[in-house]
Amino acid sequence: MRVRRLEINGFKSFADKTVVDFPLGMCAVVGPNGCGKSNVVDSIRWVLGEQSPKQLRGHSREDVIFNGSTGRRPLGVAEVSLVFENTGDITHQSFADLAEIMVTRRLYRSGESEYLINKIPCRLKDIQQLLMDTGLGNRSYAIIEQGRVAAFIEAKPEERRLWVEEAAGITRYKNQKKLSLRKMQSAQDNLNRLMDIMVEVE
Ligand code: ATP
Repeated sequence: MRVRRLEINGFKSFADKTVVDFPLGMCAVVGPNGCGKSNVVDSIRWVLGEQSPKQLRGHSREDVIFNGSTGRRPLGVAEVSLVFENTGDITHQSFADLAEIMVTRRLYRSGESEYLINKIPCRLKDIQQLLMDTGLGNRSYAIIEQGRVAAFIEAKPEERRLWVEEAAGITRYKNQKKLSLRKMQSAQDNLNRLMDIMVEVE
């Protein structure tokens, strides 16, 4: 997966629709202090499903919506779309054949929120499953902010292992295993109940 384009509308300092293209090669965002460089990174983290306002340098969920400036009234909705080029590493059955995938997140001041994949409403879980093991999840190693390198070096071996597992592409299988074990346990519980009932009936 390669990030091709970012569309920001009403998110933090971006009151007007702003499109950021990421052509092949290295891209850099430059600008004076406070112009919104970190807000670009925040918008990527947000559209990928970040739930913690603190991680987005805010206090509440609605802090990401443009809250007005001199001569400009606050907006009622924030929307961010991230367009990926499929480089053949998408294993999700529904999307593996598509050349381009657009993930969108929308939040209204009323608190209502929406996630979309290619403009079709979906659950956050669908986006997480789509991105799993591609290295592009909101907490993945794709975004390395200030202090993260030091955090990696100082992390406990178990914490560091989780990053390595994500990079190696085995997180998806670990999650599937956890889910299967839970289902097996539930089936075993049902079987035990059935045996009890049979003993009682006999
Ligand atoms: P620096 O170079 O100092 O790190 P930066 O270019 O990364 O700065 P950001 O931190 O991305 O800048 O942007 C900060 C600006 O975003 C501030 O002017 C702040 O007022 C504005 N801002 C943050 N949230 C909102 C919001 N909800 N509505 C309007 N403006 C916002």
